[in-house]
Amino acid sequence: MANGQTPEILAEVQRLIKRGALFVSNNSGGKDSQAMLITLSKLVPRNQILSLHASLGEDGKHAQGVEWPDTLKWVEYMSSELGIEVATCQADKTLFEMVDRSAARLKEQGRYEEASPWPSPKFRQCTSDLKRGPLEKAIKAHIKKNRLGGIVVNCMGLRAQESSNRAKVLPWQRKKAKETGRGAIREWYEWLPIHHLKTDEVFALIKEAGQKPHWAYEKGMTRLSCCFCIMANEEDLRTAARLRPNLFKLYVLKEQELGKTMRMDGRSLEEIAMKTVTGSKKWTFKARAVSDWGYVFFSQPFDVETRAKARFDEEKKRAEEYGGAGSLHSLEGEIVDRFSIWCPND
Ligand code: SF4
Repeated sequence: MANGQTPEILAEVQRLIKRGALFVSNNSGGKDSQAMLITLSKLVPRNQILSLHASLGEDGKHAQGVEWPDTLKWVEYMSSELGIEVATCQADKTLFEMVDRSAARLKEQGRYEEASPWPSPKFRQCTSDLKRGPLEKAIKAHIKKNRLGGIVVNCMGLRAQESSNRAKVLPWQRKKAKETGRGAIREWYEWLPIHHLKTDEVFALIKEAGQKPHWAYEKGMTRLSCCFCIMANEEDLRTAARLRPNLFKLYVLKEQELGKTMRMDGRSLEEIAMKTVTGSKKWTFKARAVSDWGYVFFSQPFDVETRAKARFDEEKKRAEEYGGAGSLHSLEGEIVDRFSIWCPND
């Protein structure tokens, strides 16, 4: 497997340090960004590192913010703990505005039926427009403002273990001049310092440094950045729906308004977050934006009627803490009990 810290790469890093390069640590606030920043702090003088966060908007700070609350504070915390300068940037549009504009464009071109306005794993407009673009602009502005030499090593926390596509990315590359544009940048390198690390090694590195990962991991998320990522697994989407029910509602409404699902497989977020517990002689139970769905299976015969009712009561109680909605139905479809408590914490 490709290694982000081969002797050749480390020698090149040393040469660039001597030439005054700026090492930009792209920082989403997630575990990989954190482990990468810790790694960089051991290899590069701290005054040559910039921890840079592309904000996707948080509650209360940006309408329709789609990232986890307190992520910016988290980025500041982990960077200042290591004595590393931190900076942020933000696109001039939100994810929802970007999707709306794509929808309008597709309609104008008469391609709305065949194409989706949502970004996809193959065409990640969200990454290019909301992250990469603003980050590159901020790096150029930083170099110019601080009159740095114009050598940039852009560091990203991609890991081979995450996907077969990521495994194929070279951990060290020099970008061609025409790709970086002119201006303050003379040389631009892309480095994946933790490309070879496994998930448990990432968490171990964070612990070893005396830090904790972002709070959302403790609540069950396996990845950070957008709460509802186009590439998230279903379990993460359900966890995010439980933790951010108001934001979940915005996504559900946007899918309905566009008539297009965020996911490529055509399954709506509501469908993913909603499970129906059935099999009872008497009851079915439907709920959304509440937790632990993966555990609600009837693989063996048992008293389903009692279980469905007990589950309903349990989720109703949980909704007081996290928010959520659910209803208990008779098999004829009549609603016999319901709760709907939207986000006390969101
Ligand atoms: S976290 Fe997912 S949805 Fe958000 S910008 Fe990245 S790829 Fe796109």
